[in-house]
Amino acid sequence: MAATASSPAQRPEVSSTQEARTGASPPQGAGGEPPQRTPFLLDFYPLEDAHHTRISRFFDELRAGRFVTTWCPRDQKLLWPPRVVCPDCHGEDLSWKELPRSGHLYAFSAVLAGAPLGMESQVPFVVGLVELQGVPLRIFSRIAPATYDRLEIGDPVELETYPVPGDRVFFRFRPTSPR
Ligand SMILES: [Zn+2]
Repeated sequence: MAATASSPAQRPEVSSTQEARTGASPPQGAGGEPPQRTPFLLDFYPLEDAHHTRISRFFDELRAGRFVTTWCPRDQKLLWPPRVVCPDCHGEDLSWKELPRSGHLYAFSAVLAGAPLGMESQVPFVVGLVELQGVPLRIFSRIAPATYDRLEIGDPVELETYPVPGDRVFFRFRPTSPR
């Protein structure tokens, strides 16, 4: 058997260099830590550039602080997640609409075990369904920084973005009146 397994100490130095280049430092504590770099094939964050996804505009807007999704003019319907084809009429003539950044907790739960790779050190953490203010969408998201025991249904939350390794960005919701 060839000894090919590598420990974290043997990871190439370029990893830490790349992590240091991810820019803004997100808030810390209670599950607010940034995700750790994971092996490429196990990285569950989406590839965000136009070469890899036809909804790259969603990530471009997110990077600029705007939360958007697609809208089907034929059905007069917001689609979430953003799509390239309407699941109802199969039309491809979709437009983009900006979404509110605030909402409230419709439901939530805690992840106590079995976290995805790279998030093991953040267990326990909270996930939930956020009902956005004024639009008929409920969005599944990480809720952070947050402690399960201190949350209640209906708590107000607000969108925030955070950097993901590989010059990417993602979103989560932060409680705005933590107990
Ligand atoms: Zn449609």
